[in-house]
Amino acid sequence: MKEKFYLTTAIAYTSKKPHIGNTYEAIFTDVIARYQRLLGKDVFFLTGTDEHGIKIEQDAIKDGETPKAHVDRVAAEVRAIWDLCDVSYDRFIRTTEPDHERIVAKIFKKLYEKGDIYKGEYQGKYCKSCEDFFTESQVTEDGKCPECGAELMDACEEAYFFKMSRYQDRLMDYIETHPDFISPEARKKEMVNNFLKPGLKDLCVSRTSFTWGIPVSFDPKHVIYVWIDALSNYITALGYDPDADVQSETYRKYWPANVQIIGKDILRFHTIYWPIILMALGEPLPEKVFAHPWLLNGVDKMSKSRGNTIYADELAGWLNVDAVRYYLLSEMPYLNDGTITYESVIEKYNAELVNNLGNLCSRTVAMAKKYFDGRVPENAAPEAIDAELVAACEACARGVCEKLNEYRTAEAIDLVFDLLHRANKYIDETTPWALAKDESKTARLKSVLYHLLETIRFAAVLLQPFLPGTAKKVLEIFSIGKTPFETGLSFGALQAGLALGDAGILFARVDVEKLLERIRIVTEETHK
Ligand SMILES: [Zn+2]
Repeated sequence: MKEKFYLTTAIAYTSKKPHIGNTYEAIFTDVIARYQRLLGKDVFFLTGTDEHGIKIEQDAIKDGETPKAHVDRVAAEVRAIWDLCDVSYDRFIRTTEPDHERIVAKIFKKLYEKGDIYKGEYQGKYCKSCEDFFTESQVTEDGKCPECGAELMDACEEAYFFKMSRYQDRLMDYIETHPDFISPEARKKEMVNNFLKPGLKDLCVSRTSFTWGIPVSFDPKHVIYVWIDALSNYITALGYDPDADVQSETYRKYWPANVQIIGKDILRFHTIYWPIILMALGEPLPEKVFAHPWLLNGVDKMSKSRGNTIYADELAGWLNVDAVRYYLLSEMPYLNDGTITYESVIEKYNAELVNNLGNLCSRTVAMAKKYFDGRVPENAAPEAIDAELVAACEACARGVCEKLNEYRTAEAIDLVFDLLHRANKYIDETTPWALAKDESKTARLKSVLYHLLETIRFAAVLLQPFLPGTAKKVLEIFSIGKTPFETGLSFGALQAGLALGDAGILFARVDVEKLLERIRIVTEETHK
């Protein structure tokens, strides 16, 4: 039986269309899902939308819609962008699905019956826009909201609380004995020192200030607050039921998650609240929670004053989907935030996708057509420099796997593009056009082209998780489809005599200034 791999993104909040930063998380997770599939695993990739809460209720009123119509519209937008970006999820969950709502209500009731949740009274400073309470020690020096800076109001309301403190020691223990649970390492220290060591306070898990949520089944004037509602999606999506004697087959097969990928800003919810909810339910914890940094909007030359929000679908419309994926994946560092501007995306597109990858393919295939009638020549007269290229391919394959195992996607994709640069340099070093002029060098020319073609095939196999559309086009030159790493990454697998397909134009060159000007005109029109 295949080894399973279950991975999740955070669910996207449906108050607004997701900007490019939110899209990054789905693409990042997609790379890991595709990689694990190429390793031969049985992958379940979950993503979806978080659809309850006061902000959605308020946004819906502003847009003159019902909350339901609002979340239907935004969830469809989220899904369309994920689909456009080739995000290969297996399940897209929405927290307004009746099954999810039914199970969340059951989970709340079960935790109440167990004594983990109790009814109390909340007194504190309340921020309307964050829909959250803060203690005196949390508010800013001038008494404002520590999250958004808004005025706070004194509020007191009846509410349900989760006894977090009950699980504090167990969670500390778990984190200490499972060093890979919170990743990257630096984030773990943040959680332990800032939240666990000072001691956990009980968590308010219900609200009476709005109605757009899942009602507490035994006290319906309360709605279940985001923690239990949204976090539970990771198990309700698999058919978990707290009252079942035997859990569903899907749940038994895939839970616990191998990795849960989230933004660093919601780490506390996923490494403290979520594991405690699971402990209270008696369910195992995920193997790893990986927190990524954020991609921030940089300042574009074209929009100095406007700070336009960049959306993945618009950017893909100007270039193409793999240009978006390539930029996000290669520019997002492991720990720190990255930035994005239209200019930097276009410049990188020209430099790496057009010049490096695109040129290598078109030059090489054109030479094979010209010199060998479009067929793969034999490796007739290998030389030492060829062995260097082979070694570079093999090192690249090992490196990509090592980096992806550590969720270092930027470093992994850079390795592939370094290999492509190496292959372009090999063309300059071996000068096939000069070999072609000398009949006594034909055998050598065959070897050079064989090595180039095989390097291109090899790189395309490695690019499959990152740039699936482009990798597919390149592999089609060799008449092959999706290729698992195990069979695809052995140098020399390419058969001499194979008729090559057309390389076409993988990426068309773009005039940076002209395109920026067009984007400026159109975005000013549409975002007016
Ligand atoms: Zn606030």
